[in-house]
Amino acid sequence: MTTSRIAVVGAGIGGLTAAVALARRGIECEVHERSAAPGGSGGGIQLSPNAMAVLHRLGVGPAPADAVRPQARELRRWRDDSLIGRVELGPDAERRFGAPYLTVRRAALSRALLAAAGPGSVRFGSRCVGLREDGDGVLLRFADGSQRRAGTVIGADGLHSIVRGAVHQDAVRYSGHTVYRAVLPAERAGRLASPPRVVVWLGPGRHCVTYPVDGGRSLNLVATAPEPAPPTAVREVAGSDLLAAYSGWHPVVRGLLAVAGRLDHHGLFDRPALPSWHRGRVVLLGDAAHPMLPFIAQGAAQAIEDADVLAAHLDEPGGPARYEAARRGRVEQVCAVARAGLRDLHLPDGPEQRARDAALAATDLSTFDWLYAGGHDPAARAAR
Ligand SMILES: Cc1cc2nc3c(=O)[nH]c(=O)nc-3n(C[C@H](O)[C@H](O)[C@H](O)COP(=O)(O)OP(=O)(O)OC[C@H]3O[C@@H](n4cnc5c(N)ncnc54)[C@H](O)[C@@H]3O)c2cc1C
Repeated sequence: MTTSRIAVVGAGIGGLTAAVALARRGIECEVHERSAAPGGSGGGIQLSPNAMAVLHRLGVGPAPADAVRPQARELRRWRDDSLIGRVELGPDAERRFGAPYLTVRRAALSRALLAAAGPGSVRFGSRCVGLREDGDGVLLRFADGSQRRAGTVIGADGLHSIVRGAVHQDAVRYSGHTVYRAVLPAERAGRLASPPRVVVWLGPGRHCVTYPVDGGRSLNLVATAPEPAPPTAVREVAGSDLLAAYSGWHPVVRGLLAVAGRLDHHGLFDRPALPSWHRGRVVLLGDAAHPMLPFIAQGAAQAIEDADVLAAHLDEPGGPARYEAARRGRVEQVCAVARAGLRDLHLPDGPEQRARDAALAATDLSTFDWLYAGGHDPAARAAR
């Protein structure tokens, strides 16, 4: 039976970053990914400076032709498209936080991480179906009937993690909200495509986000909607079917939905905090450890930070505990802000919404120092 020192389950952004961070420290690992081939989801992702700082340090970045550097994040009102607030994300942000803010396709980031992890570092078509620790390490079982042994297992297998079950038994928590996602050609998006920016429209019970990807050739679109139950699996719907849910919204949002084509529709979930992120020789990172709602665009960024810190501690005595101690406080703060978005981003028009908008109008780059500057690195934060 094949034995590896370290097995990573899941070649998403967290698992691939772990493979690269370990390789940079001369530590070999074997990554098991259930998908048959590289690629991953076709959607977009915002990479904030705290994530980009880690990726730069690891010498990884999406190809310039794939990435976009948005100038700003604009928050707008649902009904009249008026500007609530604007945060600069361009050169001022890069100077302040030490790394750029990028928007990119997930697949472009995965390609860059995979290239950095090295050829043959990932076994595709390798779905882990169970694991058991014994005196010799951890025995991993795969859907094709094969087994592998590893000294340490890193669970990076996302929201529905199998590996998490070896640390703690719990269930995902439906947020009451679903999300519709599409990537459309920029020419369909009219004035929203240029200048490049992240735009978030806030309205009662829902919000809508767009930003450019593919070097500006496409626009990523995410629209949320409250629903009593999530679809049982990801399903495709027509953008025109969403217009009823967005009735009364400004034509710029409704127009975008109308030209979006097919959107993927799925539920939004997180899980309560775990008592511990590790047990024996098994340790979790990213969504497997702490899935969060996407309302602060940080799930992948936190997975990237996790991977970097875990690689730094893994070979130390008590490594997983040190990793968790270094990460837990920050991650729980981010998860709490993300969860608060369920209410804060979706207020009905009225006094609370006006107070929220006044606070948002007053935000500037300094509001995000805790999140974007220095990331998980206390030395970098202290040096600021
Ligand atoms: C609508 C939406 C928008 C978002 N936007 C952002 C954003 O802008 N910025 C941001 O930072 N985050 C964002 N996120 C969050 C981000 O997508 C996740 O937090 C991030 O992908 C987590 O990375 P991960 O590697 O931990 O897990 P995943 O990306 O879920 O990767 C897990 C990997 O494990 C594999 N896998 C699963 N089970 C098995 C198994 N049994 N055996 C082998 N392989 C397995 C999967 O195929 C997958 O490749 C968003 C999320 C949503 C839902």
